[in-house]
Amino acid sequence: MKKTYLLALPLIIGLLTSCQNGKQSSNKSPEKSGPKDTTAMVNDPHSYAQPEKAVVSHLNWDARVLFDSATIVATATWDIKAPEKTDQIVFDTYDLSIQEVKVDGQRADFTLGAFQEDQGRPLTVSLPANAQKVRIDYRTGDSARALQWLSPEQTASGSARFLFTQSQAILARSWVPCQDSPGIRFTYEADVQVPKGMLALMSAQNPQEKNETGQYHFEMPQPIPSYLMALAVGDIRFKAISERTGVYAEQPLLEKAAYEFADLEKMVQAAEELYGPYAWGRYDIIVLPPSFPFGGMENPRLTFATPTILAGDRSLVSLVAHELAHSWSGNLVTNATWNDFWLNEGFTVYFEHRIMEEVYGRDYSEMLASLTRSELKEDAAAMLEERPEDTKLKLDLAGRNPDEGVTSIPYNKGYFFLRLIEEEVGRSRFDTFLRNYFDKHQFEVMTTEAFLSYLQENLLSAEQYERLQIDTWIYKKGLPENLPKVPSQRFAKVAQALEEFMKAGTLPAQKQTAAWTTHEWLHFLHKLPDSVTVNELQRLDEAYHFSQSGNSEILAAWFQPTIRAGYEPIYSRVDSFLVQVGRRKFLTPTYAALQESGRADLAQAIYQKARPGYHAVSRETLDELLDP
Ligand SMILES: [Zn+2]
Repeated sequence: MKKTYLLALPLIIGLLTSCQNGKQSSNKSPEKSGPKDTTAMVNDPHSYAQPEKAVVSHLNWDARVLFDSATIVATATWDIKAPEKTDQIVFDTYDLSIQEVKVDGQRADFTLGAFQEDQGRPLTVSLPANAQKVRIDYRTGDSARALQWLSPEQTASGSARFLFTQSQAILARSWVPCQDSPGIRFTYEADVQVPKGMLALMSAQNPQEKNETGQYHFEMPQPIPSYLMALAVGDIRFKAISERTGVYAEQPLLEKAAYEFADLEKMVQAAEELYGPYAWGRYDIIVLPPSFPFGGMENPRLTFATPTILAGDRSLVSLVAHELAHSWSGNLVTNATWNDFWLNEGFTVYFEHRIMEEVYGRDYSEMLASLTRSELKEDAAAMLEERPEDTKLKLDLAGRNPDEGVTSIPYNKGYFFLRLIEEEVGRSRFDTFLRNYFDKHQFEVMTTEAFLSYLQENLLSAEQYERLQIDTWIYKKGLPENLPKVPSQRFAKVAQALEEFMKAGTLPAQKQTAAWTTHEWLHFLHKLPDSVTVNELQRLDEAYHFSQSGNSEILAAWFQPTIRAGYEPIYSRVDSFLVQVGRRKFLTPTYAALQESGRADLAQAIYQKARPGYHAVSRETLDELLDP
């Protein structure tokens, strides 16, 4: 998932496999290298599943997608592995109505346990000896939090309805009864019936065009955890970018998306050169309607992406590098529980920067790293006031919604932790280390502790481990003083231009700004001091037309100083943006700025209009933020 931090209120604020030393095949297909136990026996506080009793290995999902009632009616048939003595298996569910359960063809007893706010209910099924298949007939409920049903008006085409899922962190259980823990992997196949005229896509081998029946078959031969289960249904088209990459979107966005992601193949190649073969077959991206709550979601084979990255100038494609990087960090080697989330995201941000460096040069990637660093410092300072425990890399999210762990810390502190090690051992040794790490642990899960052992056994001496304060980075609050620095000459020039504007009122010259990318503009806007006046903002707006920008990153950054200074002309643009876009990263700081600048009335009025169009994960964050 990409940088979708929950903004801490009120400020900005998203088994254990013992290290194997044996040589392993670099063949990425697990079936070819023989059966491998891919399930982690780690206690996951966010799942009712008890994998030590019985665990799933394969899903056969047969589903009908009913737009009129906004429900999915389905049968989930699970292949299970159960020790002889086991007499039950436990699944996670959230607001599912269960019609019938059969075990190996016979009706079976089942119970649904007490409902808990974030976790839903455990579904416990009695098992006879040697049970092999559990079949669950069910339908989804009104509060299926993973599903977002869109009316035609909420889509780009305006002519057809649309459905998409967002399962991370623990929302898969609201559309499939499953063992909803990142430590439990399974393969799947699916048959999905959707209305005629629509295309269905999953995190699996996908069709490239609509058929006449609306019936689609899917296979996912590599084992994945439940949070990577995904489905999108709509009037969707496909356009190839290279032989193994392409883009899906509604017709009006298709060409724009293909242009924006033209470098996709180059990125996959750069990633493979760094850390080994891409393990999943095709790599495609689907551009979703604007209410998608995240920047992107790394669903295997098919990244889900927000249309807010279609800037028209390819300036926001680092998001694609991020989701692509998850094909290794996260999807191939997976955090064992959400407390180890930094293993997914810190590695991915590191890898994202490396891909960007390969494709666009060090100068550019260092500018991104510099932005990452300022964001981290700002967020960590705010979080130390509000929720200091969450500034540790290893989190403790037991009893809380794991979504609360989605902050700058696992992403950016995780990134700088890895960068620190790279700077210590040198790039070439670090790359070899990472490549071996991905290779040895592919299709497995990883705990923080297992990674630290691996790090000690394979890279750092005891002296280095001590000197770099590895345990402090992982288990202590805040940012250690050896946080790597990122010199960016390009930003130094921006800072100088800003200083001249604030001191002497001199606008940065056209000659200079012509070469600025989105990131330089963002740096300029982020660094505007609190003392900036309405007059100065108006001069900037006249010169650079920020209020009319079609680049959502720039627009959202521009909202901050203008709302806070009470720059009247911005409010109508804020209104239309918040009604149109559902990406939480933009919503939270913008609503927060309205509230903090004495315009809570406006925040409430806009939210009332916009809320029905937001995905549940955005609504949950904003309900809390805007609670009167
Ligand atoms: Zn991510």
